[in-house]
Amino acid sequence: MKILVVNAGSSSLKYQLFDMETGEVLAKGNCERIGIDGLITHKCPGKPDYKTQADFPDHRAAIEFVLKLLTDKTLGVIDSVDAIEAVGHRFAHGGEKLRKSSVLGDEEIAYLESIVGLNPLHGPPAISGFKACKEVMPSVNHVGVFDTSYYADIQEHAYIYPIPYELYEKYKIRKYGFHGTSHRYVAGKAAEMLGDPNAKIITCHLGNGSSITATVNGKAVDTSMGFTPQDGVPMGTRSGAIDPTIPTYIMKAENLTADETEKLLNGKSGLYGVSGISSDCRDIRDAAANGKVRAKLAMKILTHNIKKIVGSYVAEMNGVDAVVFTAGIGENDRDLRAEVCKDMSFMGIQIDEEVNATCPRGEIADITAKGAKVKTFVIPTNEEYMIALDTQNLTK
Ligand code: ADP
Repeated sequence: MKILVVNAGSSSLKYQLFDMETGEVLAKGNCERIGIDGLITHKCPGKPDYKTQADFPDHRAAIEFVLKLLTDKTLGVIDSVDAIEAVGHRFAHGGEKLRKSSVLGDEEIAYLESIVGLNPLHGPPAISGFKACKEVMPSVNHVGVFDTSYYADIQEHAYIYPIPYELYEKYKIRKYGFHGTSHRYVAGKAAEMLGDPNAKIITCHLGNGSSITATVNGKAVDTSMGFTPQDGVPMGTRSGAIDPTIPTYIMKAENLTADETEKLLNGKSGLYGVSGISSDCRDIRDAAANGKVRAKLAMKILTHNIKKIVGSYVAEMNGVDAVVFTAGIGENDRDLRAEVCKDMSFMGIQIDEEVNATCPRGEIADITAKGAKVKTFVIPTNEEYMIALDTQNLTK
């Protein structure tokens, strides 16, 4: 079975074509600058990478170009579009109703359209991407996989905020959680490695956006992101959790509008805001190594917050069997892993410094110190494969 996975952003459309018999990625790529001009990068194992400018007035033009490439005599990997048996679409938000991956029909799309206010950045382009794909491939099933659905079963006391309850009823202000597809994938792998589907696992997805999730029995019980992906640990440009009165204080002090304040906390804060240098962890590390004090401080704030959340989830779950690091920073920054796990031996978390420092990039690694009670793993995430699997399971 061949499944196309699509992740549509406001000006981009990423895709991967999977052969589900082998789990192999046959081709993948990214259409960028949709609505501006158009640029596509297309990669197939064993063939030279292909990159060209194109005319992408909208998502439909982009997906049509992708299908042309996938079926191209020299660059392609399938004979005809009919070889694609289903399409999986990534959605950041499924609201309260889309609690699991679902085949997308009129009802589901109407619901997703009704909740774009909860998800103004990712919702509209994901819906446009889906509509474009459905028009071009009308006869196959299209499945929506929602980042929020991994948190569908967290308990009320973990998702209701201590603000007037009517605001939840009126506006659905509650914790939703994000990055669920990634956390579900790496927590599943960790449970497999432990040989225990009931394990207590803390997964740290640390990339440009970062979140930490606690999983028990294969189900999320808590997560650091909340009503929006702005909550939790500091990120590249997002503040993460801060004292809730800071936004209104800044608005008054700097005479900013609500939108300007949101932009400041979303786009100018986090690692970038503290360091004043970059949102990219590698740049911050370089700057810190060159003695830049605020770059050092930015990393210290990050590790301090990760540690606090990991500790709180150990308390919440009454223990932990494994801690997992994933995504750009989690998979690659060995110093961060060492700093987070330092002085945690009292709760059984201790890593082998040597193994941590030398584990190969892009591969699963067990970095646990000999004799430590809690396992620590590095597990590269694979959200696209998870989307393809859900799509296969729902359409087979
Ligand atoms: P996104 O959330 O956009 O998917 P990624 O998961 O790709 O992001 O993570 C991007 C982050 O990973 C950036 O901060 C980048 O600096 C960091 N990163 C990538 N490689 C390394 C590395 N070798 N060392 C430290 N950080 C890294």
